[in-house]
Amino acid sequence: MEKRITGSTGLLGLIGSPVSHSGSPAMYNYSFQKLGLDYAYLAFDVDIPHVADAITAMKTFHMRGCNVTMPCKTEVVKYMDELSPAARIIGAVNTIVNDNGRLTGHITDGTGFVDNLKDHGVDVKGKKLTIAGGGGAATAVQVQCALDGAREISIFNIKDAFFERTIETAKKIKKACPDCVANVYDIADQAKMKEEMADSDIFVNATVVGMKPMDGESVVKDLTAFHKDLVVCDVVYNPKETKLLREAKEAGCKCIGGEGMLLWQGVAAFKLYTGADMPVDGVKEILFG
Ligand code: NAD
Repeated sequence: MEKRITGSTGLLGLIGSPVSHSGSPAMYNYSFQKLGLDYAYLAFDVDIPHVADAITAMKTFHMRGCNVTMPCKTEVVKYMDELSPAARIIGAVNTIVNDNGRLTGHITDGTGFVDNLKDHGVDVKGKKLTIAGGGGAATAVQVQCALDGAREISIFNIKDAFFERTIETAKKIKKACPDCVANVYDIADQAKMKEEMADSDIFVNATVVGMKPMDGESVVKDLTAFHKDLVVCDVVYNPKETKLLREAKEAGCKCIGGEGMLLWQGVAAFKLYTGADMPVDGVKEILFG
């Protein structure tokens, strides 16, 4: 690795906090080495008050780009010269591309979700989805599915601070994608959720439920809501198999976990930075063993 770093090696990185657990440096540096691209990738622990400094440093160091993780994804938006359509609708950025000082903000989380489904033989175009969640991951998934031609999206969330945001997301989807029907419901109404799941092609958990400390819980309480034609997805990637996926699998559903979304959002960002295709098979080996 050290041998390939020279005086002309370009820098990319990740900003956010915490970042020390991130798989991104391994994923990118492996890919640069494999493809013979003269870049290196580091993770920088940056909190919200230091975002402005990080953006200035990014320009000063002529970095090719930066990934952005929590809690900085919305804060960086105001420093962008341009936003991708999804980043504009969502109001968050996870990938900044620096073209000679001009910064474009993209969000590849939703693309990562859609491409992970494609990798498992599932296309969202023309499909009805029921999606639990209204936070960062959920919004990215909902907006990208709408942009990619989903026919209908039924959003369920608890009546917490995110509920208002789900209503705003549905409004934004209706404006940007008039052909996509988007409605919001209270997740406490499990009978309504079962009704929406009954004619859905895809169900997605995009909440924190299923992740520690809620790893013993699932957003679907009534297991008769699962039907054999339903593809059940989780954005939670730790644990690999959530309670939701375990129960859906037992009910005969095709199940897709959150790990691949993590990989494919990186693949999309890599393409934006380099124009090249990430060597996916090798990266899968590094990330998932
Ligand atoms: P967030 O804090 O923005 O949103 C949290 C969501 O969980 C909200 O919709 C909230 O209402 C809901 N929620 C919280 N407590 C709940 C409860 N008791 N019952 C039902 N819903 C509840 O979080 P986020 O950034 O959107 O992350 C959500 C999950 O997605 C996390 O597990 C995160 O690790 C995962 N994620 C995965 C990827 C990936 O690439 N696979 C990417 C981003 C996030």
